[in-house]
Amino acid sequence: MSLTYDAVVVGARCAGSVLAIRLARAGWDVLLVDQARFPSDTVSTHFMFPNTLARLERLGVMKRLRAAHDIPQLLFSWGVLGQTVAGSFTPVDGYERMSCVGRVVLDHALVETAVEAGASTRFGVGVTGLVTESDGSVAGVVLQGGEQVRARWVFGADGRNSTVARSLGLKRLNPLRGDMSLLFAYWTGLPETEWFRLEIWEDRAITWSPCEDGSHILVVAGGPDLARGNRRARQARYLEWVRRFPSVIDSRALDRGRQTSDLVVAPEAMMRGFFRRAKGNGWALIGDAGHYKHPSIAQGISDAVEQADYVADALLGEDPDLGRYEKWRDARSQEQYLWSFRAATWPVPERHIPIYAGFAADENAGQQWRDMFNRLHQPSEVYTAERIGRWTGARPATSQPATPEARRSASNDLGLAYAEARIALGTLLRGLDGALMERRVPACPAWTLEDLVAHLAGEAADFVEGAYFLGVSDAWRDPDVAATRDAWTAGQVASREQESLDAVLAEWDKRSPRLEDMLSGRTAAPDRYPPWLPPAVVADLAVHLHDAYGALGKSGDRSIAASQVGLRVYVRWLEIRLAACGRPALLIRAPGAREWLLGAGNAAATLTTDSFDLFRALSGRRSRDQLQSLAWQGDPEPFLDLLSPYELPRSSLIE
Ligand SMILES: Cc1cc2nc3c(=O)[nH]c(=O)nc-3n(C[C@H](O)[C@H](O)[C@H](O)COP(=O)(O)OP(=O)(O)OC[C@H]3O[C@@H](n4cnc5c(N)ncnc54)[C@H](O)[C@@H]3O)c2cc1C
Repeated sequence: MSLTYDAVVVGARCAGSVLAIRLARAGWDVLLVDQARFPSDTVSTHFMFPNTLARLERLGVMKRLRAAHDIPQLLFSWGVLGQTVAGSFTPVDGYERMSCVGRVVLDHALVETAVEAGASTRFGVGVTGLVTESDGSVAGVVLQGGEQVRARWVFGADGRNSTVARSLGLKRLNPLRGDMSLLFAYWTGLPETEWFRLEIWEDRAITWSPCEDGSHILVVAGGPDLARGNRRARQARYLEWVRRFPSVIDSRALDRGRQTSDLVVAPEAMMRGFFRRAKGNGWALIGDAGHYKHPSIAQGISDAVEQADYVADALLGEDPDLGRYEKWRDARSQEQYLWSFRAATWPVPERHIPIYAGFAADENAGQQWRDMFNRLHQPSEVYTAERIGRWTGARPATSQPATPEARRSASNDLGLAYAEARIALGTLLRGLDGALMERRVPACPAWTLEDLVAHLAGEAADFVEGAYFLGVSDAWRDPDVAATRDAWTAGQVASREQESLDAVLAEWDKRSPRLEDMLSGRTAAPDRYPPWLPPAVVADLAVHLHDAYGALGKSGDRSIAASQVGLRVYVRWLEIRLAACGRPALLIRAPGAREWLLGAGNAAATLTTDSFDLFRALSGRRSRDQLQSLAWQGDPEPFLDLLSPYELPRSSLIE
């Protein structure tokens, strides 16, 4: 005999319990299943910001926690290379500070609240598979031992390695990885403080925070090696590392304290990010099961609780089929996802000191920066081009980075810039109907959108396999080289002709982490590659991202980091062409961004246009008429035939 519920929720921590509480309170018959028995721990630190504390307050979880525990309310201090942004948050429902409640305590309070709300539970029993109908819709779960439980809805809240997702055959989309691994443990006897403190240096970081009932958590972060070795070696390393940050906690304080827990280890591989489809027929994924960001910015609990709340509101309100859920989740998460991996990449003095000094000194900017953790601002509203430009100062774009640190910063940025553009394009195209994918791309009319993705997947594959065609930089001056380049890219498209778009996107996703590691300098690129190639690969992706936006009549994010890399690459190539052909100097101005003097002596002409138009003009996306009608001072004639390394489009491209 099988039981039938309105909903089976698999996984009973932040995502699952919150959804169970909401649905059970609304009168749904809910079964909450978890292979763990509570109280139970999980590998996670547990910093929570006012937005999440306010949600937990509304659910009654904070009241339950306060009744049994002393929960400190903390001020927030985040230091990068000696620059510290510190203070409270913009209040949410009266919460203007953060808290740090251990997972054993927090998750138990969530589970108890779900039980009190009326959810039935099965703990200590894993879900091993799904019950599906002949049309593929999900109608229940199979428990360990074979028992089937049927339900109108199955919610996978079962974490990163979700069994529900695996049973549905869902892939990890838009993967990303960071630099860090973590070691942490709990302590008593450390000085009392009302501060959460995090400090990051070039290759290491520490977090010290009071938790509930007088305990403290001390977390150290380092490269992947930090988490390697046996238990004893890691424990010794941890005790040595916590003493490396005297400006946060000094040796005397540590000597007076006592480590009260086993060491917890979070290797780099545990913190790799992804998205999965969020919803299908009879099922939805919430929390880590559907999307995992890097823990560097401590948003996983917040996301899990917020998604559970959203799904409950939708089911009980105006979107009972959850038709809008995936779109909402992706829009809500995308910028934070990229920010989490930027934060999981070691800072570089030349770039990060001025930026964090800026946030530390500017009260309004610092408040907004803290409120990103509180989800009141998206990173793009906080890291504005105007602020970053003002704080870092514009540098000549064609100069090579001066120091090893600056070179590392530039290459770190390359990997992330590529990832960001890849994710933007994947998000744009996934789920488009077939007819749209067959649409010709006006900027490269030989290709459909599907062909364009095949080229990019092929380019990524060729790059990591050492098979990149290095003639691309010379093709402008030699028709034979140009023909070889065209045959190379045509081969990338032809060899994927029989594949579906999803398969090609999946191949690209699979290749990209290695490619991005090479672009970031984490993994050595093939020896035969010259230094100009990594930025050129990012530039090519940026060109095609905007080609795709153009094909769909959208404008997209025109200042995405890959476009800025692309502009620098194409300006540099133009400089080379002008010099090789003996043309006079040209001054290019992109107001609000940069200017470049290409060539020696006084400029014979000046071209002024915004960064995006300039990027498109220099990458062959403007017709001769369009180039002529840009804002020129002086005679454009000596330059028009060299502005693009490619043949110009015959008709105007309006974007
Ligand atoms: C090192 C580290 C530090 C972190 N620090 C923070 C932080 O400071 N702040 C923050 O907000 N987030 C942090 N996170 C992220 C946070 O831990 C997660 O985002 C959050 O736990 C997600 O909650 P969840 O309910 O989706 O999944 P989980 O907490 O992973 O819960 C999933 C549950 O599903 C159960 N389950 C799994 N498979 C099955 C099955 N087959 N059958 C039955 N049950 C199953 C598991 O037993 C588990 O109880 C951190 C993560 C890591 C790795």
